[in-house]
Amino acid sequence: MTNEIKITKSKCNQCLQETKHDIQAVHIQKGSEEIDNSHGIVIDWSYTWEILECRGCENVSVKMSHYFSEADGIEVKYYPPTSSKRKPRWIDDLNDEILKNLFNELYIAHGAGAKYLTTTACRTIIDQIMNLKIGNEGGFQQRLKRLVSEGEVSAADSKLIDVALEAGHASAHRGWNPKETIMMDTVIGIVENLAERLFILPELSDNLKKEIPKREK
Ligand SMILES: [Zn+2]
Repeated sequence: MTNEIKITKSKCNQCLQETKHDIQAVHIQKGSEEIDNSHGIVIDWSYTWEILECRGCENVSVKMSHYFSEADGIEVKYYPPTSSKRKPRWIDDLNDEILKNLFNELYIAHGAGAKYLTTTACRTIIDQIMNLKIGNEGGFQQRLKRLVSEGEVSAADSKLIDVALEAGHASAHRGWNPKETIMMDTVIGIVENLAERLFILPELSDNLKKEIPKREK
């Protein structure tokens, strides 16, 4: 018996591209059933589970390949699902647990290709950001105006936030979903940018300021 590790090519959620993966373990479940014994007709199926490890970044994922004799081709699924967007590291540094959880679920929905959930999650994230900064009184538009008047965001930023909100409203109420990945990524980009600027960069820049040597008089 040999312990040689096999290699396969697969999309890596960390490297965000197809990379070589070691197949660290394989488990196969299979079965068959005679559905017409007078004609000897048998159907059969199998589920192959592979634990994959990226040879670049060591990210681990599970690949499930489902074969069914009556279906065309093999159905392949990845856990966690393959994603086109990497979760930024700073998400884990958010102090508000609700906001952190919403972002984590956003990347799960996006990775699973759940477009309605992705755009409505972005709207819920904006809602929570508004709650944290200016409270929950008033509708989205009223609170957006207050974000600007209280100096939390610029007028130019509010136009971007408004587009992300409209995408969320359209998904929640009018059954719209983004056709292109770039549209979904744009909405995610707007809420990431907003959260990072309001909750992460102020603290980082304060720390940075303390480190910068004062100018000599
Ligand atoms: Zn990788």
